[in-house]
Amino acid sequence: MDSLFAAGFALVVTAFFVFRYLKKQKQRDEEARAAVEKGKMYSEGPRGQHPHIDITNCIGCATCTQVCPEGDVLAMLAGQAVIANGHKCIGHGLCAEACPVGAITIVMASPSLGADMPFLSAEFETSINNLFIVGELGGLALIKNAVNQGRDCVDLLARRMAARKDRSKLVDVYDVLIVGAGPAGISSSLRAIEHKMSYVTLERDEIGGTVAKFPRQKLVMTSPVQFPMYGKFNKLELSKEHLLAFWDMVLNRSDFNVRTGEKVDDIKKGPDGVFTVTTSTGQYRALSVLLALGRNGDPRKLGVKGEELPKVMYRLIEADHYTDKKILVVGGGDSAVEAAMGLAQQKGNVVTLSYRQAQFGRIKERNSKRMEECMRTGRVKVFFNSNVAEFKPNSVVLDLNGQQQEMANDFAWIFAGGSPPSAFLKKIGVKFGSQDITLAGAQETRRASQEKKALTEQTPAKVGSGSSQLF
Ligand SMILES: Cc1cc2nc3c(=O)[nH]c(=O)nc-3n(C[C@H](O)[C@H](O)[C@H](O)COP(=O)(O)OP(=O)(O)OC[C@H]3O[C@@H](n4cnc5c(N)ncnc54)[C@H](O)[C@@H]3O)c2cc1C
Repeated sequence: MDSLFAAGFALVVTAFFVFRYLKKQKQRDEEARAAVEKGKMYSEGPRGQHPHIDITNCIGCATCTQVCPEGDVLAMLAGQAVIANGHKCIGHGLCAEACPVGAITIVMASPSLGADMPFLSAEFETSINNLFIVGELGGLALIKNAVNQGRDCVDLLARRMAARKDRSKLVDVYDVLIVGAGPAGISSSLRAIEHKMSYVTLERDEIGGTVAKFPRQKLVMTSPVQFPMYGKFNKLELSKEHLLAFWDMVLNRSDFNVRTGEKVDDIKKGPDGVFTVTTSTGQYRALSVLLALGRNGDPRKLGVKGEELPKVMYRLIEADHYTDKKILVVGGGDSAVEAAMGLAQQKGNVVTLSYRQAQFGRIKERNSKRMEECMRTGRVKVFFNSNVAEFKPNSVVLDLNGQQQEMANDFAWIFAGGSPPSAFLKKIGVKFGSQDITLAGAQETRRASQEKKALTEQTPAKVGSGSSQLF
């Protein structure tokens, strides 16, 4: 009798847990479906790099959905991983690293996007032999990708240079000329030093690239990376200032050969295979050229009356320099939203944000939540479906669904993205489209897991590794 009761009890308990599991599963599926639908609302799908899931291998463990720092790029649907918000992927690649069965690779977006990207081999070479593209210009965002690509590309170049029999006969010709001193250009330059290659790095602006232009004290998310002339760099997050100070420290003691304030205007390859690089102030010759230009190019302008006024700006570094001001921020991406919230925190500022769409669609989850709070409390007034009609010295005119509204204004910031340097690439003869980006993405994924393995082992550090308290 007792055993009958025990069996019955066990059956009821099992049924309860099975029911609960199925209910949870159903709820998860519904959430995923909602996330997929929400993702579809805001984008036609991934816009750049994104995970590719091999559904024949996916075992539905959901690990990939838990490791993504961007939140809901992936979701579980009917027991399998699916892309819910592909446009939010910025290439961390942690899903691919974490997948226990290797069912995920990071690939580039649709052919339509590919047509907008320079052709690149899996070794970062453009359609022009010995002309390379590394870093964000090649399609993969993030500092770690820029560092990895710059380093690996110079490794390949070093092998090519070693195989050249005519090297000693070429006078006044660099082994490699690097354009851009963001993370990709810095990493490439340091690797060239390690390989004892002759090189010069040309930077139109300042060392640090996009990172140098981040707002003051911005928290930068990084990943462990093997940094040339240093060794393993293990920080996961640090301030922009600390990251720049780290690069500065390594560059200073490595005798970095950089020329800042020098913009590269043209690159031509002669019949002898040597490149002539023309800049704003001179000419250089090099056997190979590595373009690490980033994708920001020049800030996109609105093209409206009064935009040339000095109060209209495209970059905000020191939000705390502005107090008691009437401010307009234009744009609906993370940069615009972060700037508006940062400025709204300063004493006495009245901040308005104008965005041409009906809602924010592509901003990070945490920015979305903070912004909702700012709107609710009135710290930032947001005009959706609005466009700037004109900037005047003391005011700005907004077009709100056909109605014009003029408001007092001291400063305006426009965050409408940047125009990537496609025109420059086309001018120098780089071919676009049908690139082997899937291969490059898959290579990135393979490298990430190899590197993760290597970084957990003790790596011999290079010059002075670990000597700084900061790093
Ligand atoms: C707001 C914002 C926040 C971000 N936060 C993070 C983060 O937290 N973590 C992360 O990993 N990534 C982040 N990123 C992305 C990261 O900044 C980029 O992926 C990275 O900087 C790309 O490095 P890069 O070297 O390829 O290009 P860039 O950093 O853009 O550097 C390119 C350099 O080339 C120079 N240049 C361009 N054209 C010429 C020319 N003709 N002649 C000479 N020099 C030229 C430019 O002046 C620039 O210095 C963020 C990006 C933005 C916009």
